Amino acid sequence: MDCVFCRIAADEIPSDRVFESDEVLAFRDLSPQAPTHVLVIPRRHVASLDALGPDDGELAHHLLQGIREVAAAEGLSERGYRVVTNIGDDGGQSVGHLHFHVLGGRRLAWPPG
Ligand code: AMP
Repeated sequence: MDCVFCRIAADEIPSDRVFESDEVLAFRDLSPQAPTHVLVIPRRHVASLDALGPDDGELAHHLLQGIREVAAAEGLSERGYRVVTNIGDDGGQSVGHLHFHVLGGRRLAWPPG
């Protein structure tokens, strides 16, 4: 298994987990870009958002629910936060396993670079 996030999901690589369910896992980013920076991933390998198929509606629901749970648990819901998923080279994706960045705890600039 050469996917780093699959290895995190399999507990082969340690992570600072903040949320987990049967389908979804959330852990703190190694290189945080905001006071709160959590990655929400499916346990199952999916290459990116672009690779989600027509049968993945339930997984998409669990991922979105996981994002909301993380935001609430991290105290971000009231002031707001940002959810980002990078896709492919132009999107700046560096890990080829679907993940949503949940960023908050400071005012975030827009547009992104
Ligand atoms: P992206 O560039 O959108 O693919 O995001 C990948 C993110 O994964 C980056 O923000 C990295 O800091 C983060 N990352 C890479 N390896 C790990 C790891 N072992 N534990 C936590 N975060 C990681």
